[in-house]
Amino acid sequence: MALNKRFLDQPGTNGDAGYARNDQYNAATVKSIADKYRDILRDLGENPNREGLEKTPERVAKALQFLTHGYQLDPAEILRSAMFNEEYQQMVIVKDIELYSLCEHHVLPFFGKCHIAYIPKGRIVGLSKLPRVVDAFARRLQVQERLTVDIRNCIEETLKPQGVAVVIEAQHMCMVMRGIQKQHSIATTSAFTGEFNTDKTRAEFLRLIGR
Ligand SMILES: [Zn+2]
Repeated sequence: MALNKRFLDQPGTNGDAGYARNDQYNAATVKSIADKYRDILRDLGENPNREGLEKTPERVAKALQFLTHGYQLDPAEILRSAMFNEEYQQMVIVKDIELYSLCEHHVLPFFGKCHIAYIPKGRIVGLSKLPRVVDAFARRLQVQERLTVDIRNCIEETLKPQGVAVVIEAQHMCMVMRGIQKQHSIATTSAFTGEFNTDKTRAEFLRLIGR
């Protein structure tokens, strides 16, 4: 299934199999996307053969593969690769995680910040893995609402903590650049489980992330 397994097997960088940044591209997929993109440029009234656009279809094909490389990643496996038994039972927060995604309705970027908290129940996870989980879900065609819930569910089901909280604040280029052109509006979504469904814990989390 060449189209399904779009990237070559070896990851491009540090050998963290399964979730390293992919800098290598499947040649057949690049060609397939690029050929179609040449037609799109023509449909837009452009001349795909002029100098500045000559290599654009290939660049777009590679950019699209990179921007959706989350399909190649297994977010639960990212967490499982760094879980440790630990009796710590207080809230763990990683805030201001940079987030870049593509809205599935317009294939335009939305980007912003993700804040994650969990309260362990016998197990903790390496802190650097939480931003990787965000990336694994964000680097796909998404809507902000589902992205928020995907991240929450992955942590909940893999780590089985006392509770998980996820808040995402993002700007959507499909709102900024087209349609209603609301340049400064930010969409906020949140998803909670367990302890974070109690007012006290949720309020503490929101205070700690500065909301
Ligand atoms: Zn959109």
